[in-house]
Amino acid sequence: MSDFSRVTRRKFLFTAGASAAGAVFLKGCVGNPPGSTPVATTGNTTTAPATTAGTADTPETTTIKLGYVPIVESAPLVVALEKGFFAKYGMTGAEVLKQANWGSARDNVEIGAAAGGIDGGQWQMPMPHLISEGIITKGNQKIPMYVLSQLNTQGNGIAIAKKHLGKGIGLDLSKAKDYILSLKSAGTPFKAAYTFPKANQDFWIRYWFAAGGINPDTDISLLAVPSAQTVANMKTGTMDAFSTGDPWPYRIVADDIGFMSALTAQIWPDHPEEYLAIRADWVDANPKATKAVLMAVMEAQQWCDDPANREELSTILAGRNYFNLPKEILSEPYKGMYKMGDGQPDINDTKMATLYWKDSKGSVSYPYKSHDLWFLTESVRWGFLPASTMDNAQKIVDSVNREDLWKEAAQALGIASSDIPSNTSRGVETFFDGKTFDPSNPKAYLESLEIKKV
Ligand code: CA
Repeated sequence: MSDFSRVTRRKFLFTAGASAAGAVFLKGCVGNPPGSTPVATTGNTTTAPATTAGTADTPETTTIKLGYVPIVESAPLVVALEKGFFAKYGMTGAEVLKQANWGSARDNVEIGAAAGGIDGGQWQMPMPHLISEGIITKGNQKIPMYVLSQLNTQGNGIAIAKKHLGKGIGLDLSKAKDYILSLKSAGTPFKAAYTFPKANQDFWIRYWFAAGGINPDTDISLLAVPSAQTVANMKTGTMDAFSTGDPWPYRIVADDIGFMSALTAQIWPDHPEEYLAIRADWVDANPKATKAVLMAVMEAQQWCDDPANREELSTILAGRNYFNLPKEILSEPYKGMYKMGDGQPDINDTKMATLYWKDSKGSVSYPYKSHDLWFLTESVRWGFLPASTMDNAQKIVDSVNREDLWKEAAQALGIASSDIPSNTSRGVETFFDGKTFDPSNPKAYLESLEIKKV
């Protein structure tokens, strides 16, 4: 038995005997999935499995409502429920609830679970900061939220409609620049879509266009369109490009609607993608339950990244209750296999797949403050936030990013100290076009960019 387990059990015995809530916790433990630690025996006392107890103590509540959008980013939340990790740490009443779209997720977190909405869940960035600052809420009401962990990296891409085959629309867009500009001159500007404005997919496609010398605000037509509608429009030829997450890029290729020009794993390897964030009032009222949720999600992330589990992961997500699609559509992207099309070589590299726990730079799950800062800086780049935001960007990040809670949960989970980042900055980031973002000097990054609004 590890030192961690010994500490865990002692804590559990104390907690379980101390309160009625302990009994609820025990009951939750009974519902563990097969494969969890067998019951351990100490002298005459049969105790619950050591790892079952966790060290999240008895949570203040066993329920939480977490929203998700059916793309691979949501896997850690779905797995935490389906594999019993929420229950394992005492969150026996945790729910993961499918959101119709990002706007609905925002509306539901504004309402809160008590009024029929959600407490938090999966977010594109910087939605938690924009909600906290009242920038995308009704009546600009400020609803403080905490970013608690990153859910995944990579797994997103830019799909192009089939009618543009042979024009050189690839990762390096400079070769297709004249063609795309000619569409504008002809009065039929290239139409590109993302699913929600001023967040990840909007940023990825803007970055890619601008790196190729195309101004996304003036040279093309860029707009928010729901996923299903975009694919339908690509089929009929009225939509030219779509910035989205797996499994959509794969489906577009598999259904022969279009091809892939770029993966986000190429644009910015190991880039920040989507996050777990919860309303601050819920976290502040339920610190132990927050720790339990984090421990469950972190264990789910480790499970998701084990190659031995990826087939089962595909099966779970493909299920009717979740993504409701053929499992095969998830299997290949999860192995890092992407058919790019239009003369670009196919990709077959697990390091290019969606990753949930570790990537080549270290921790995926840990929410680096330097990444929050990039999202705010990029928001300023495109005029989504005023330039003056840069003066208090670090303050906004410090109030929303709770990497301290992530670390507490990681320690309780017994994560090796070498896997717990010691710096809130991941350091200088390098993009595919050679540009760099130094978190200690975001203004230098803004100055280095040729195409921008600020
Ligand atoms: Ca995404």
